[in-house]
Amino acid sequence: MLRRGVAVSPGVVVGVAYCIHEVFVDPRGKPLEEQELLQELEAFDQAVEKAAADLRALYDKVASQVGTQEAEIFHAHEAILHDPAFLHKVRDYITQHRSTAQGALHRVLNEYGSLFARTKDDFLKERLADLRDVIVRLSGHLSQVIKQGPAALGGEPLVVVADELLPSHAITLGGCEVSGIVTQSGGPTSHAAILARSRGIPAVTGVRDILRQVKTGDRIIVDGREGVVVLAPDPESEAAYRKLQREFVHRQHQLAENRDQPARTADGVPLELLANVNGLGDVEQARAVGATGVGLYRTEYLFLTHPSVPSEEEQLDNYRRMILKTPQHRITIRTLDIGGDKTIPYLGHRGEANPFLGWRSIRLSFEHPEFFQKQIRAVLRAAALQTNPPARVQLMFPMVTVVEEMRRLRALVRRCQRQLRAEGKEQGPVQIGMMVEVPAAAINIDAFLDLVDFVSIGSNDLVQYLMAADRDNPKVSHLCQPLSPAVLRVLHHLIRTCLRAGKPVSLCGEMAGSPRGFLLLLGMGLRSFSMSPSFIPLNKRLAASVTVAQAAQIAQHALELRTGRQIRRFLAQQIHAFCPDVEILDVE
Ligand code: PEP
Ligand code: MG
Repeated sequence: MLRRGVAVSPGVVVGVAYCIHEVFVDPRGKPLEEQELLQELEAFDQAVEKAAADLRALYDKVASQVGTQEAEIFHAHEAILHDPAFLHKVRDYITQHRSTAQGALHRVLNEYGSLFARTKDDFLKERLADLRDVIVRLSGHLSQVIKQGPAALGGEPLVVVADELLPSHAITLGGCEVSGIVTQSGGPTSHAAILARSRGIPAVTGVRDILRQVKTGDRIIVDGREGVVVLAPDPESEAAYRKLQREFVHRQHQLAENRDQPARTADGVPLELLANVNGLGDVEQARAVGATGVGLYRTEYLFLTHPSVPSEEEQLDNYRRMILKTPQHRITIRTLDIGGDKTIPYLGHRGEANPFLGWRSIRLSFEHPEFFQKQIRAVLRAAALQTNPPARVQLMFPMVTVVEEMRRLRALVRRCQRQLRAEGKEQGPVQIGMMVEVPAAAINIDAFLDLVDFVSIGSNDLVQYLMAADRDNPKVSHLCQPLSPAVLRVLHHLIRTCLRAGKPVSLCGEMAGSPRGFLLLLGMGLRSFSMSPSFIPLNKRLAASVTVAQAAQIAQHALELRTGRQIRRFLAQQIHAFCPDVEILDVE
């Protein structure tokens, strides 16, 4: 059976399904026999031990690769895992109701779920999410498929099928690497999708009701390029997809060989291919694929994985390590972009009717000068780091909407610089830039240019606001499309205005990494791109096969087309003509 969803992370994988939801639906089944109870309790205890070992290993891995603050979340999960009340409840359900451990976990989750459902407190809601994550992990160790390890999968890759993706799913599950992801909700620029892409895991989201059609252990194919999921494939289609899978892996390896070559068009025009990163782990990957710097460091994860506002010293330490590890020590650090789909409990964020139109990003930061100034000061101080070649640190503000905000931001930076001078603390030079992701700022861009050193276009948000279509909602993903006539016109206006004014401009939304988006932007005159690291090799390859004049002609023609479908088809044809090598790595 073939199901269609939203293509969010390219690649093809033929594997075995592991349904995360199995803990969320009642496992039913007969009550256990008396003699089975002991066995079930033992199985549960073993699962707790294995889950604890997982969490400790994850802590160590993230602590060494990213930082101890980022790893704290796994300590918190371990504390839940060993919570006596929680353990008692599960054991009690097993013995009193003769339930399986899976069934008992399901009941406990439901019980906490209905208790927490009434609360409006975001902090408690977050704790429920943590509990769910822990229960999913435990359930993974109780599942026959995962319990027997990769052997039970017949050596096949593991495909996670879930309602929505939790960040920990994209790392490992019960000791198995995750090789594919299918979810019922979430769109192409949801943060879970971005995570999958940065790890190069093929993923399809928005496949409605898939959890009713697939069960753990079923054979499943994920085509993250076309947004297709095949359940119980017949031998012919399985063979065809296996061929595609081999080709995909081969092509990826082949392309990554260009890591040391400079990024240039066919006529030798140099380009800047930068990486979008969430932390130190991603910087390693950026380096491995040949990124020449970081064009977007999303600092949210530093805050999201911390129990309270990270102190100025903690942030300073993190930014210094990021600068050191980043290729050429060139990094654009974005201030906290919270709100919308991400909340931080300790900032007291409350539910809003329209969170993406509400109190997010700098709108929220302005009202928290205590942490906003800490972040700005930490970036200024980190920029003093002595490196070879000298570090180039850029400070970028998200969601700037009106000119007054930009003035206020500059004043805030000046105040932080004065404070640091007065305190005798070292600081380095920092370029100040804005993200253009609100249509008001895009249309009015010329009014901002005197106030900024550089511009970075955040096409993920810009597209959702222009098209009035939530980037995370699969029901409207047909509208939330960067390759649409209205978006093209706004991008063209933006890039042209910046270039005419001699203002450095880059684009850091997901469209920079998709070959069709990349080709179009190149044709509009863009020379600096920031994308998920895994997309760098293929766009370097694509750039080398077109001249600037050819790309400009393509963009000109695309701008004349009237529908998104025509634009997408036309650009796909151009990719096919100029660089068929990268076709397999494109996302529909
Ligand atoms: C964007 O909006 O395009 C962007 C790069 O930022 P984020 O995806 O983090 O909102
Ligand atoms: Mg954004």
